Amino acid sequence: MSLLRAAEIRELAAQLDLKPSKSLGQNFVIDGNVCKKIVRVADVRSDDVALEIGPGLGSLTLALLEEASSVVAIEIDSRLATQLPITVAKHSQRAAALTVHTSDALAITSLTVEPTVLVANLPYNVSVPVFLHLLEYFPTLRSGVVMVQAEVADRLAAKPNSREYGIPSVKAAWWADVSGAGSVSRSIFWPAPNVDSKLVSFSRHAPLGDEVLRKKVFAIIDLAFAQRRKMLRATLSPIYGGSAAAEAHLESVGIDGTLRGEALTIHDFCTIAQQVIRSARG
Ligand code: SAM
Repeated sequence: MSLLRAAEIRELAAQLDLKPSKSLGQNFVIDGNVCKKIVRVADVRSDDVALEIGPGLGSLTLALLEEASSVVAIEIDSRLATQLPITVAKHSQRAAALTVHTSDALAITSLTVEPTVLVANLPYNVSVPVFLHLLEYFPTLRSGVVMVQAEVADRLAAKPNSREYGIPSVKAAWWADVSGAGSVSRSIFWPAPNVDSKLVSFSRHAPLGDEVLRKKVFAIIDLAFAQRRKMLRATLSPIYGGSAAAEAHLESVGIDGTLRGEALTIHDFCTIAQQVIRSARG
């Protein structure tokens, strides 16, 4: 197998008459060693079914095919999706292990195979919704590594009481333990983006509850962070019918209503949601 070099990436793009689209976050990795590193950090095993979102011209796909049992790639741009198997056949003996779907990742809710590891250089403008969507719809995803804009990586991996902690951090924590896994220079992309990138790794933990609880937890998270500077007794007052009732209910489960959403862990949000569900059942 040979990884794609910078000149080959540019050649392929010229051949396809591809002008990288900003709105589709088309910044292609031109350094094969970075792709190898991402696959190594993701700890891809020989029995893994790897899911890649946005394979683009195939840099990371080729590195993944070196390690995984098979790769399922989902690419929204049909020109790239059509070219990918051709590129892979040229550079690898493992073309039969690749399946490509032309689709928006957000529209994919099932696959004929069960992916076990997610490895992707995510399109920047939809990285958070795509990441959360995949964790929700593909419970067989055990772990993975995604490359995202540095600021988004910091938000996904943030812990309570930090400036970066917010909706993406808490929702991701519902599904998985998420942590930063290193920085990536903007010079390894073509075209070079005007932001830095970082790797984020995740490892799925045991479910914290069923879908009823998750939906309630996510609704409460949205409310708590909608007005970030406000206290919980104010932001959550619509659920309880007023801030005094909110404060009393929160206190009954050991949560101080004068705190802000940013102080709560995912477990605190679960405690609040469980109490709301119990009250509604009477
Ligand atoms: N994996 C390639 C690499 O590392 O060189 C390309 C990564 S590039 C940052 C993002 C890729 O995601 C592009 O190929 C783009 O066409 C694709 N893409 C953008 N939005 C998408 C979506 N909603 N669903 C699937 N693919 C998408």
